[in-house]
Amino acid sequence: MENMSICPRCGGNNITAGVRVNQTADAGTVGLSYKTKFVIMGTERLYADICSDCGTVVRFFVKNPARQWYTK
Ligand SMILES: [Zn+2]
Repeated sequence: MENMSICPRCGGNNITAGVRVNQTADAGTVGLSYKTKFVIMGTERLYADICSDCGTVVRFFVKNPARQWYTK
């Protein structure tokens, strides 16, 4: 996992990359919706890079960015 980020808040480079974003309740998965050929949408799991010094989430990202994203 690449670790080349610098925290925009505290300037530290103690960034943990690729942390899975989970919900605390069991209502489902937090993620980004996308369309598939037959179904209206799926949910692409979100990951986060987080600063281990101050707790700032440096970025959110998905591992399959070339989806047909559902934006309505
Ligand atoms: Zn920080």
